[in-house]
Amino acid sequence: MNIAIIGAGAVGTIIAHELKQTLPNVTLIGRQSKQMTIHPANQTIQVQDIKETNTTFDTIIIAVKTHQLEALIPQLHHLAYKETVFILAQNGYGLLSQFPFKHTYQAVVYISGQKTGDEVTHFRDYRLHLQQDAHTTELKKVLDNTKIEIVLEENIEEKIWYKLLVNLGINSITALGRNTAQILKISEVNTLCRNLLKEGAQVAKAEGIHFSDTIVEDIMNIYAGYPDHMGTSMYYDVIANQPLEVEAIQGFIYRQARKHQLNTPHLDTIYALLLSHQSLTQP
Ligand code: NAP
Repeated sequence: MNIAIIGAGAVGTIIAHELKQTLPNVTLIGRQSKQMTIHPANQTIQVQDIKETNTTFDTIIIAVKTHQLEALIPQLHHLAYKETVFILAQNGYGLLSQFPFKHTYQAVVYISGQKTGDEVTHFRDYRLHLQQDAHTTELKKVLDNTKIEIVLEENIEEKIWYKLLVNLGINSITALGRNTAQILKISEVNTLCRNLLKEGAQVAKAEGIHFSDTIVEDIMNIYAGYPDHMGTSMYYDVIANQPLEVEAIQGFIYRQARKHQLNTPHLDTIYALLLSHQSLTQP
C-alpha cells in the first residue's frame, strides 16, 4: 500500500514518523519541501512538496486543519486514482460532503502533539477511529505492525459526536476566555461550559445520537482532570491570532441545531463571538 500523509503539522508528522518505522512506501507531503524534527524521538523526517509530487497513492491521510481543506482539494486530483481511500484525520465534522472522492472517511483523532516551526512534539496517544468496512479493515491490517492503532467502529457517528462535544465545551471557553483549563475554576464559566454541553447533547440527540444521561457530567469530569495550564488548540490559535476550526466544530453543531429548530442560546452566543474573532484573522 502506497500511503501519503498530507499536512506536515503535529498530527501528520507523528503519523508519518510512526508509519515510516515499519512500512516501506510512506510519503509525508507539505506545502514545501523541508525537514521536520520529531520529539521526543529526536529524528528528522523529509517533507515532499505537494507541487512536486507526481505519484498516485492507494491511501491518503489528510491532516491539515479543517479550514485549510477547501484550498487543498483541487491539488488532490493528481495524487489519487478512482479507488484511492482518503482519511480525514481532523477534528470536527461536516467536511465529508464537500469532498469529491468516492472512498472518504472521517477519522476521530486521538493523537496529541504540537508543531512549533519545523519541530513537532508528540505528547501522547496513537489512535485513529474509523467506520468499519472493507477499506478500513484493509488499512488496519496494513498498519498492524505500526504504533498507529486503527480502531474500527460499528457506528463512527457516535464517536464523532462525542469528540465534537468534548471540543465544544473546553475549546469554546478557553478560546473566548483567553485562558487555559484553569478557567473552569470560575464558577460562572463552569456553568457556561455545562450549558454548552447540555445544548450540544440536545443537538446530538436530534441527530439520532443517544448518549447516556450522564454525558455532561462525564465530560465535565474529563475537563476536571486537565492540568491548570493546559491550553486547547483553539485557545492557542486565538492567542496566536490564527484562524480557528470554528466552522467544523461550533459552526457544524450550530447548523444542526438550526436544522432541528432547537433553542440553543449559549451555543448561538459563543459561535457568534468566535466568528467575530475569525473575521479578524482573515486577510
Ligand atoms: P497543524 O500542526 O497546524 O498542521 C497542519 C499542517 O497542514 C501544517 O503543517 C500546514 O502547513 C499543512 N497544510 C495546510 N494546507 C496545506 C496544503 N494545501 N498542502 C499541504 N499542507 C498543508 O495542525 P494539527 O495540530 O496537526 O491538526 C490537524 C488536524 O488534527 C486538525 O483538524 C486538528 O483539530 C486535529 N487534531 C489535532 C490534535 C493535536 O494534538 N495537534 C489532536 C487531535 C486532533 P503550513 O505549516 O505551511 O501552514
